[in-house]
Amino acid sequence: MQPYQSLDDALNDVLRLSQGMTFKNAMAGLSLGGGKCVIVADPNDPAKPELLRAFAHHVQHFSGRFWTAIDVGVGPADADILAENCDYIFANASRYEAGFNPSAYTALGGFVSIKAAAEHQWGSPDLHGRTVAVQGLGAAGSRLAAHLHDVGAKLVVADINQEAVNAAVAQWNATAVDPHTIHAQDVDIFAPCALGAIVNDVTLPQITASVICGLANNQLAEPHHGAALRSAGITYVPDYVANGGGITAAGSVIYSEPSDAEIRGRIDAIGETVSAVLRQADRSDRPSAEVADNMARAKVASAAASNDR
Ligand code: NAD
Repeated sequence: MQPYQSLDDALNDVLRLSQGMTFKNAMAGLSLGGGKCVIVADPNDPAKPELLRAFAHHVQHFSGRFWTAIDVGVGPADADILAENCDYIFANASRYEAGFNPSAYTALGGFVSIKAAAEHQWGSPDLHGRTVAVQGLGAAGSRLAAHLHDVGAKLVVADINQEAVNAAVAQWNATAVDPHTIHAQDVDIFAPCALGAIVNDVTLPQITASVICGLANNQLAEPHHGAALRSAGITYVPDYVANGGGITAAGSVIYSEPSDAEIRGRIDAIGETVSAVLRQADRSDRPSAEVADNMARAKVASAAASNDR
């Protein structure tokens, strides 16, 4: 849910997000296609519950061909409103123990991905003493930052929400920087965890991190930025691979009732996918984003072929 400037902006975003979701589900090994929805509204609008109920009414009409969950502007408590009259909602608060936010699974997948990328880049997944710039300390980014702090990484952080920044400084001794300069910090790893298109013509030449691995969707403004990152010698973990932990956890409930330990085991496997993508990118000297897209397309094509049989 976002107050998009125009319907064209919303359409462009939802199509990009839908493709990302399809590729994310494929790379996470889920028997799901992929789709996304956007709601053109301010998440602080007092009419939000009514908008959510109206939206859920449409989702119910798809009779399970489309499920939906939380994302920017729609949290687990909002998803409970969606679930009032709709059977095809996951990641709603009442599925979990009080206070648990399912973005924790996304953050765990991001942490596993950063370790795999570190191993690829430096020969060890150990993040002790590594510096990581985390852009966006929301539901997912703050939980990723906590994992990184726990293993001794040094955090540089930015958010437009000053309270979130203050909490990171107090809790993790993080260094706070201007949100406009977070991508350009002298760090080992840049973790974009806010909104999309952070790797663009303006920011890319200013990025000095060796690794980019974060949780935001659609980090590359244009596909050619994947090639530009490779030319610049920057290891890029495709966003939809790194942020597949949430859907791995949430999507599992469509088919089964996995335990928390089973879910965490599945999220751990994201690290192997990250390693496979980065190795293949090096072997073929192709951008990691292109390699991941090709792997995802091959998985979708093979699933479609077996459905036809
Ligand atoms: P969120 O709304 O909880 O957090 C986003 C944070 O980014 C907020 O704290 C916001 O203040 C901050 N922010 C916004 N603009 C900023 C800017 N210019 N500079 C710095 N900070 C800025 O959202 P979230 O759920 O944490 O999701 C973050 C990203 O991860 C999104 O792109 C989302 O699509 C993606 N993602 C999230 C999940 C999940 O489980 N939450 C799963 C997959 C992908």
